[in-house]
Amino acid sequence: MAVKIFLNEDEIPRQWYNIAADLPGTMNPPLGPDGKPISPDMLAPVFPMNLIEQEMSQERWIDIPEGILDLLYRWRPSPLRRAIYLEQYLQTPAKIFYKDESVSPAGSHKPNTAVAQAWYNKEFGIKKLTTETGAGQWGCALSYACCLLKMECKVFMVRISFDQKPFRKSMMETWGGTCIASPSNETAAGRDILAKYPDTPGSLGIAISEAVEAAVTDTTGQTRYSLGSVLNHVMLHQTIIGLEAKKQLAKAGIKKVDTVIGCAGGGSNFAGIAFPFTLDKINGADIEIIPVEPASCPTLTRGPYIYDHGDVAKMTPMLPMYSLGHDFIPAPIHAGGLRYHGMSPLVSQAVAHGLMAPMAIKQLECYEAAMTFAKTEGMIIAPESSHAVAATIRKALEAKAERKERVILFNLSGHGLMDLAGYSKFMKGELKNAELSQKELDETLERSVKGNPVPAL
Ligand SMILES: *Cc1c(COP(=O)(O)O)cnc(C)c1O
Repeated sequence: MAVKIFLNEDEIPRQWYNIAADLPGTMNPPLGPDGKPISPDMLAPVFPMNLIEQEMSQERWIDIPEGILDLLYRWRPSPLRRAIYLEQYLQTPAKIFYKDESVSPAGSHKPNTAVAQAWYNKEFGIKKLTTETGAGQWGCALSYACCLLKMECKVFMVRISFDQKPFRKSMMETWGGTCIASPSNETAAGRDILAKYPDTPGSLGIAISEAVEAAVTDTTGQTRYSLGSVLNHVMLHQTIIGLEAKKQLAKAGIKKVDTVIGCAGGGSNFAGIAFPFTLDKINGADIEIIPVEPASCPTLTRGPYIYDHGDVAKMTPMLPMYSLGHDFIPAPIHAGGLRYHGMSPLVSQAVAHGLMAPMAIKQLECYEAAMTFAKTEGMIIAPESSHAVAATIRKALEAKAERKERVILFNLSGHGLMDLAGYSKFMKGELKNAELSQKELDETLERSVKGNPVPAL
């Protein structure tokens, strides 16, 4: 039995899949400060025009430029692995496959879009990129991409992760990027938050405000901002994961997948594995598709589908998405990459139309799953990815109870070798479950999304 299924380099997918062409319902546009749909020009100070066009594209298949394929070949196609040791441990009749995105130089799926975005920016004449990072994965991915393309990179890292994961900064600096803790004193948005909450752990929403501000206030016009998740073009770039997985499953003789699982922060690694299978579902296939989020930041399972800003300072347009409110600061769980108040509009639309079945899981079950995974499959995975593994274990045990031979595919979004502080705390019994209370949820929604427009279905 094959435990790893590879593709040759010449079998790499040559087009990305754009689910905007196939989702049911209307594409709700982003809204500007006046409540009207924003035009491409309004985004021009923030993103290069070639990516703005991609963001708005309704074309189903988009060619991957040769220049980007050359960068992706450095670590792609990524392996598809069969988790037989986990299957044996669980004594489940389920067949569990996972796409191993930990093999990229930065250790996660994020370089898939980082190299694409840096390449498009460079084509457009941009010399420097600014960005935010949660757990540090995205800052590393963009620093790496900028290193390959000889561009400058400045990263605002969420304070709590900056303190918990100091080696992430070292990685960014090794590739030539700069990394500072957010909120910082370098931007008006950062200074504002620090004045109000001097001890804040920070959040992705705050860091995004700072990074956008740093890009648009550069008077040379050669700096743009880059976002590692949420936006349509990011989801698009990540579909290479699911497209490769389809070819690999076919090689392994698997005709039908029953369940597709990914952890969801802003939605990109989940969309990457899930969207090509969502197309099959739209065309009638019976597939269960599960985005998994932390119970402390339950955007898809408990948030409303509403227009909201992507960041706390409202620098970004309002996006149609599930949201817990743009100034929501989730509990400081270790899965920093899943601590985001919003969700990709494309994932949100798919969820709103019932194509996906979101699940929220608490921190301790996720760490237990990560420990089981390390002891069976061997890999020490990112705390974000542990959400996908916890859901996979639930589904595999369900299959065992029902005596059904289900095929489960999940995305292993990254390794956890930079996240060992969280593992140590878990083993010492120092980690807690954090679940958002109804009162906190009501308060955040009342404060920051009440009265906002509701996207059409
Ligand atoms: C950033 C990150 C995530 C969450 O981001 P998505 O856009 O939801 O994929 C998940 N896993 C890992 C390893 C990450 O680095």
